[in-house]
Amino acid sequence: MRRREFLEIAAAALAGSGRADALSGSAEQVVIERSNNDQPHRGKVLALITPHLDDGPIFAGGTVAKLLSEGYTGFFIRTSNDEKDSYRLSLGETVLANERDTARLVKTIGFKKSYDLGYRNHRIDEVSRTELRGRLIFLFRLLKVDTVFSYDPWGHYEENPDHYVTAQAVEAACWMASGQLDFPEQFEAGLKPHAVSEKYYFARGPQLVNRVVDIGPFLPQKIAAIESCETMIVHMVKDLNDSLAERGLRVPALSGNLETASKEFIQAAFVTRDHTTGAKHGLQYAEEFHYIGPDPSLDEYISRNAQRI
Ligand SMILES: [Zn+2]
Repeated sequence: MRRREFLEIAAAALAGSGRADALSGSAEQVVIERSNNDQPHRGKVLALITPHLDDGPIFAGGTVAKLLSEGYTGFFIRTSNDEKDSYRLSLGETVLANERDTARLVKTIGFKKSYDLGYRNHRIDEVSRTELRGRLIFLFRLLKVDTVFSYDPWGHYEENPDHYVTAQAVEAACWMASGQLDFPEQFEAGLKPHAVSEKYYFARGPQLVNRVVDIGPFLPQKIAAIESCETMIVHMVKDLNDSLAERGLRVPALSGNLETASKEFIQAAFVTRDHTTGAKHGLQYAEEFHYIGPDPSLDEYISRNAQRI
C-alpha cells in the first residue's frame, strides 16, 4: 500500500473514532474564511515559500488567489531548483523548464515577483539551516512580509526533506526577522527588523487544522495556477499512464492530447480533493490550513493600560 493511501485510510479511521479532534482541530476551533470584496488586506504583503513550483498551487492556490484579490501584494520564494521533476528531460533541461513554468505561475496568479534560491532538489537537507534561514530573513525584511504560506513544519508523515527543511526554516525566520541581533549587518544595508505576523501552513498528511478557506469563487484561478506547472503536471500524467500500462490498464481521457489529459488529471487529482475537503465543512471547494495569527495574549492588558503618546 502506498503511504498516501494508508494516511487517507488512517485519517478516515481517526475521524470515525472521535480522535479526529486531536489531529484536525475541534469544530469550535475551526474558522471558515470566506471571500471579502472590501479589500481588507490592501497594503499587506504575503510570501509563498516552498521548495517546489507545484506545492503552493496544489495546496493553497485558491487561498493565495483570494488574498491577492483582497489587496495583498504577493511574492513567491522557491527554495529548490526543481531539477528532478520532469518526464524524461535531462537534469539541465528540467531546471530550465521549471524555471520557465515559474515565470508563468507568477504571471498567472498575479505575484509581483519570484525569488529562486536554487538549492538542489531532493537535497535541501544537506543545506545549512542557518544559511537558508538567513536568506529568508533577508527577504522577509526586504519585502516587509506580513503573511507566509508554506508547508506545516509540524505536519505528520511528511516524507520529502525539501518540504520539512524549508518549512522549519520559514517558521524560525518569521520571528527571528524581528531580532535586533540576528544578522545585524543587514541593517547597515538599510533593512529594518520585521516580524511576520500571520502564517498559513498546509500539509500533505494529517495536521492540526484550524482554518478552512472557501475557495469556490477562486477555483478557476487555482486550476490556472496548477496548469502553469506544465512540466510537473505532464510528469504526473505520464508516470500515471506508465504505471497503469504496467497493470495492463489505460484511461482514455488521460492518454492522447497532453493538454486535455492534464486538465482531466487536475480535475481528478486536485479539484476532487478540494471538493471532498469542502464537503466536510459545508462548502463546495475548500483548502485547509493550520493558521497562526498575531499573539493576542497581551491585547486585554494593553487595552486597559495603554495611553496615547
Ligand atoms: Zn513538493
